[in-house]
Amino acid sequence: MLKFFNTLSRQQEEFQPLEEGKVRMYICGPTVWNFAHIGNFRTFVFGDILRRYLKFKGYQVTHVFNLTDIDDRIIKEAAARNISIDEFTAPYIQYFWEDFDALGNERPEVTPRATHHIPEMIAIIEKLLENGHAYESDGSIYYRIAAFPEYGKLSRIKFEGNIAGGSERVDTDKYEKEDARDFALWKLVGEGEEPGWDAPFGRGRPGWHIECSAMSMRYLGETFDIHAGGQDLQFPHHENEIAQSEGATGKLFSKYWIHSEFLKIDDVTMSKSKGNFFTFRDLWEQGYSALAIRYLLLSVPTRKQLNFTFEGLKGAESTVERLRNFRQLVKEAKVSDGTDANVAAAVSKALADFESSMDDDFNTAAALAAIHDLVREINTVLAGPGLKSEDREAVLNAIGKFDSVLGIFGPEDSESLDAEIEALVEERQAARRDRNFARSDEIRDLLAEKGIVLEDTKDGVRWKRK
Ligand code: AMP
Ligand code: ZN
Repeated sequence: MLKFFNTLSRQQEEFQPLEEGKVRMYICGPTVWNFAHIGNFRTFVFGDILRRYLKFKGYQVTHVFNLTDIDDRIIKEAAARNISIDEFTAPYIQYFWEDFDALGNERPEVTPRATHHIPEMIAIIEKLLENGHAYESDGSIYYRIAAFPEYGKLSRIKFEGNIAGGSERVDTDKYEKEDARDFALWKLVGEGEEPGWDAPFGRGRPGWHIECSAMSMRYLGETFDIHAGGQDLQFPHHENEIAQSEGATGKLFSKYWIHSEFLKIDDVTMSKSKGNFFTFRDLWEQGYSALAIRYLLLSVPTRKQLNFTFEGLKGAESTVERLRNFRQLVKEAKVSDGTDANVAAAVSKALADFESSMDDDFNTAAALAAIHDLVREINTVLAGPGLKSEDREAVLNAIGKFDSVLGIFGPEDSESLDAEIEALVEERQAARRDRNFARSDEIRDLLAEKGIVLEDTKDGVRWKRK
C-alpha cells in the first residue's frame, strides 16, 4: 500500500487515485533561460522515480512536465542579444532534454511549453474576471486574493494584517493592487512591444503562475491526482496555482501535493543566483558518469536535504560500478540446475523490502539498502557454493524490477555493441595517426551520441559509457 506525505494535509496519506488504475500528475519543469543545475535535476529525478514507481505499482500514468519558456530573465536576455525569445530558448531547451535523457529519465507523456498555451491562459483569466476573482488595474490583470478565502491552505502562511481591503482603496491610480498579496495574471505590454499577445482584456503577457494552471488542466482535467515540484514552489507558485484554478472551476485542483527538499552544497542551497552550482555537464566533463550522478541524486529520500560533495559523488561512482559488475557476474556465473530455498527467500525478501520502502513515502535510501543486502548475500553464494539456475533468473529478474524504478544499473553491456565501439575507437586512432582530425572528431561525436566517453590514458585510449 503506497503512502506518502501530502503537503496539502501535512500528513502521510494512503494513495487513492481519482480514477481506478490511472494517475494523472503534473510536475513543474525548468525555466529554460540557462542550463539546469543538478539541484534542479534532483527534483526532476524524483519526478522520474515517482512516475516509474507508480507504473511499477501498476498504474497507467499520464505525466505532464512543462517548460517555462517565458519570464523576465528570458525576455531580458533575448532583448540584450536582439533575438526573439524563441531563438533565445531553443538551445537551452535542447540542452535540457540532452541532460534529462542522459540522466536516465523517462520522457513524460506531455511536455508543454508556456508560450504554446497562451489561449488556455487567457480563457482562465476571462473566467476569473467574470466571477470576480480577478480585476484590472492600470491595464494589467490581478488575482483578487480576498475573493478566495482558502488562500494559504497549501503553504499555511498566515496573512493577517496584510490585507489593504477593497473599501480602503482610495485611489486606483496610486494603488496598483487592491491587496499587497494580489499577484499578476496578465501584465500589460504596449503596442509594438514584444513579446506580447492580444487578449480580450488587452495586449499583454502572462504572469508565471497562470501557465501551470493552464497547462495542467489542459492535459489532465480540472481535478487531477498529483502535483509536485521543489519546496520553494510551495509558496507562492503552487498556492497561486490553487487560487487560480479553484477560483476558476470551483473544484479541487490537485488531490496530492509533493515537495522535494533542496540539494545543498556545503550546506547552502545550490542555486544560479548564489553561483554555487554544478550542471550535469560540469560533472560529466570532469569524468563522472551519468549513472553515478543519478545515484547520488536519488540516494536520499526526496523530503530530506541532500548535501552535495565530491566525496559522495565518488562513492556513488564506485557503488554503481559495483552494481553493474554484480549484474555481469550473475549473468556469467556457472550455475547448477535447480534452486536453493535460502537464496530464493533472500531474493523474495529483497523485493518485498524494496517495495515496502518505496511504499513508505518513497524511501529510496531504504530501497537501496534492500538492493545492497541482496548483492552482499548473492556475492557470498557466488564465492561459496555457487548459484543455481532458477535463482540466477530470480536475481536478474529482481534487478530488472529494481531498475525499472531507479534506473541505476544502466543499459546491459552487449558484446556486439562493444565490438562496434572498439572498431570505431580503432578507426579514430588511425585517423589521428593520419592527422585526419576531421574524421577523428566525427567519430568522437558519433561515440558521444552512443553515450561513449573517450579517455586518453598513458596506456592509450580507453572508453566507457556515460
Ligand atoms: P526553475 O528552473 O528555477 O524554475 O526550477 C526548476 C525546479 O528545480 C523547481 O521545481 C525548483 O523548485 C527546483 N530547484 C531549484 N533549485 C533546487 C535545488 N537546489 N535543489 C532541488 N531542487 C531545486
Ligand atoms: Zn509550475
